[in-house]
Amino acid sequence: MQVPSHVEYERAASLEHALSLLSRPETRVLAGGHSLIPMMKLRLAQPELLVDINGLAELAFITLDRGQLRIGALARHADLLESKVAGECFPIFHDAERVVADPIVRLWGTVGGSLCQADPSEDLSAAFAAARATAVIRGRDGDREVAVRDFHRGPYETVIGRGELLAEIRVPVRPGTGSAYEKVSRRVGDWSIAAAGAVLTIKGQTISEAGLGLTAVGAEHFVAAEAEDYLRGRPADEDAFTRAAEIAAEHCHPAADQRGPEDFKRHLVAELTTRALRRAAERAT
Ligand SMILES: Cc1cc2nc3c(=O)[nH]c(=O)nc-3n(C[C@H](O)[C@H](O)[C@H](O)COP(=O)(O)OP(=O)(O)OC[C@H]3O[C@@H](n4cnc5c(N)ncnc54)[C@H](O)[C@@H]3O)c2cc1C
Repeated sequence: MQVPSHVEYERAASLEHALSLLSRPETRVLAGGHSLIPMMKLRLAQPELLVDINGLAELAFITLDRGQLRIGALARHADLLESKVAGECFPIFHDAERVVADPIVRLWGTVGGSLCQADPSEDLSAAFAAARATAVIRGRDGDREVAVRDFHRGPYETVIGRGELLAEIRVPVRPGTGSAYEKVSRRVGDWSIAAAGAVLTIKGQTISEAGLGLTAVGAEHFVAAEAEDYLRGRPADEDAFTRAAEIAAEHCHPAADQRGPEDFKRHLVAELTTRALRRAAERAT
């Protein structure tokens, strides 16, 4: 099936307008459309109304504000990749954006659309989970904040309700923090076979906080929680990184598919987690 079913279209003139349209049933936000339109063509999504938010410039920003990196939901992948402040605070986002799709998709696809699509292979979901980011969800009664680690209910499902949209993502900036993202795909611009993101805060030689995100390998909420627990309080050295990576590989749930068998994906998780931790530690110091 290559033709979407009948759908109404409204271009939101303001945030208020968007939120009032979104309170109607069977309504979807249209951001970059790179995931939603193909899903509509395949009739995997059949909204009755599309609310186009591309005119809402107030949702397209990237800024450092009182110790937090704030990224508007309508910031494009290319904006995040080009953002100096994002790259300085969190190189993990530049690492990840460099390997998200191709330049054409990155010019139009949005950060908010990536998170809201809730595809288990979405690179930014794991990167934001590793960075312990917070999603700001806006409704007509105001904002509510949800940890990105609690944002996805499961594949293709988020906690956003009727009459709400994702407005921005906030990431706390901590001194002594380094981050990195490592991905293996079958060819340039493809989705991950597996990927790992690491965010380490190091005091002296000791890891005081660790965030580990995994992409496309069935990690609950995109997080390697057991490996994070292992790392906290340990010296930031090769032994700790290798063992944490083994733990991450043991606790994820990759599925065998056209991208490879389960044991190959676990092997990638171990290797990519070690590399991401090593690079994050180098950057922290
Ligand atoms: C060829 C191709 C290759 C790709 N490769 C990769 C890859 O390697 N890695 C990767 O991570 N991604 C990849 N992507 C995904 C892409 O990068 C986009 O992130 C993704 O398409 C979603 O962004 P979008 O703005 O296009 O969202 P849309 O398609 O507009 O929306 C996606 C979903 O999110 C909802 N939504 C969007 N914005 C909001 C909001 N602010 N509030 C509430 N709901 C919202 C929509 O209603 C819809 O349900 C690829 C896409 C394509 C087409």
